[in-house]
Amino acid sequence: MKSKSSFRLYGTLAVILALLVGSTVRAQEVVRNITHIAGDVYRFQNNAHYSVFMVTSEGVIATDPISVEAATWLNEEIRQRFNQSVKYVIYSHDHWDHASGAAAFPEATIIAHANAIPYIEASDQPIELPDITFTSEFDLRLGGKHVHLYYLGVSHSDNLVYMVFPEEKILFGVDAIAVNRLPFQDFEGTDIDGLIGAMYALQQMDIDIVAPGHGELGTIEDIVAHRTYIESLKDQVTALIRMGRTDAEIMETIKMPQYSGWGSYNDWQQMNVRGMITYVKEHYRF
Ligand SMILES: [Zn+2]
Repeated sequence: MKSKSSFRLYGTLAVILALLVGSTVRAQEVVRNITHIAGDVYRFQNNAHYSVFMVTSEGVIATDPISVEAATWLNEEIRQRFNQSVKYVIYSHDHWDHASGAAAFPEATIIAHANAIPYIEASDQPIELPDITFTSEFDLRLGGKHVHLYYLGVSHSDNLVYMVFPEEKILFGVDAIAVNRLPFQDFEGTDIDGLIGAMYALQQMDIDIVAPGHGELGTIEDIVAHRTYIESLKDQVTALIRMGRTDAEIMETIKMPQYSGWGSYNDWQQMNVRGMITYVKEHYRF
């Protein structure tokens, strides 16, 4: 009886152990996907990172390669699924976790904003230098399709490019936009007023679908909601600084529970407040 229950106990432990090991392995697995967005535009996922690409009769216009491994996978998938090769790669901005890996597209001409060059030259990550740069707008045409690139000033970085696919009415806005999710951590490196201004410009555009670099797809209403959240946070922080409140008091006061349903609220809400305090104190006189 005893040995039988011991056997059962060890059997149960073995099953639990196997489940734990299994879940650990699954958690480390790379998630890569291609999903159709609309028309000739597709979304590419590599774990928590996303980019988009457009298939034309003369080749593919890709955007962020994400990493060498991710881009190598994508290049092969594009060859198999569409019998095409990547002719252009457009960097959304210089950040290594989006711009790395273009060497996996040997035929591609790389396009980026001119301000990205010094960051790429200084980086120790596998980021290829662009072949073509621009400073304000760029219209790229291939196989009767086109993508329009807008530089709307300093926002998430000083070289972030907003990409619009006009036929499909899709915007790829990478790290500058978020759908049902708080802005990333403490706005490090972000010109918040520039970001708000860019959101106002974007919400005037003829766009149906918004594709961020992280998280779910959205619409123009999500751009408006994102901008409204950031403006509201900035207004509250500014008012409390004017009232002479300490940073700790401001952090204690501003909780914005109406956004508790957004992703990363528990992790980033207080970081958002702290980052906004830093930004407002650096950019405004009181
Ligand atoms: Zn970024």
